[in-house]
Amino acid sequence: MLGSLFIVGTPIGNLSDITERAKKTFEDVDVILCEDTRVTQHMLHAFGMNKTLMSYHQHSDDLRVKDIALLLKEGKSLALVSDAGTPGISDPGGMLVEALVKMLGDELKIIPIPGPSALISALSVSGFPADEFLFLGFPPHKKGRQAFFKRLSTISSTMAYYESTHRIEKSMQELADVVGDRSVVVCRELTKIYETIYRGTASEILAKLKTTSIKGEFVVVIGPKRK
Ligand code: SAM
Repeated sequence: MLGSLFIVGTPIGNLSDITERAKKTFEDVDVILCEDTRVTQHMLHAFGMNKTLMSYHQHSDDLRVKDIALLLKEGKSLALVSDAGTPGISDPGGMLVEALVKMLGDELKIIPIPGPSALISALSVSGFPADEFLFLGFPPHKKGRQAFFKRLSTISSTMAYYESTHRIEKSMQELADVVGDRSVVVCRELTKIYETIYRGTASEILAKLKTTSIKGEFVVVIGPKRK
């Protein structure tokens, strides 16, 4: 009998956002698969837990997937977490699920344990319609970056993407060039001490960012084109 794979959402900053069901799942499973064992160890310690961890990250090879499939074939139950948020949303979790489905087929039970996601948290405070939206992950760093921003100007609905501290100012400039006066919301450090929500056009937000600290993690949300 194959073991089950639980896809577990974890906090994006504030550890109080862990769910009862996530904690119960951690207690019950044999092994927790995680991106960075130190990050997950730290979280588990905060919940008074000590579990066997196995890393699965963007550079993990086929051999690691085979090891994970073997554990499931032995009947072991596994939880998959990312460093923060919901596995598979712009992190390597999605690749693992795809590979395991290919290897083990429908017999493998994959069970979602929903939790926070930076994307959904940002959309929820944006005030933009989210009945239809496009999520684009991270913009490419170099090759393809120009095309990424050019494409944004062609889409009328709400859009969202992730951005790093190093590129957030550049990103606002690039966005200002393609979406002009469309409303933008930039969410910094959601659920953490320095949580900040910037609202305005991309150039207005750029001006605000230049006068404040811009360290941290960011989600950029772009409002729909005005009719
Ligand atoms: N799977 C995760 C999720 O569901 O939120 C996202 C993983 S992705 C590798 C990490 C990116 O998410 C960060 O670089 C940042 O853009 C965004 N992010 C994660 N935590 C955040 C937070 N607390 N505030 C703002 N953005 C955050």
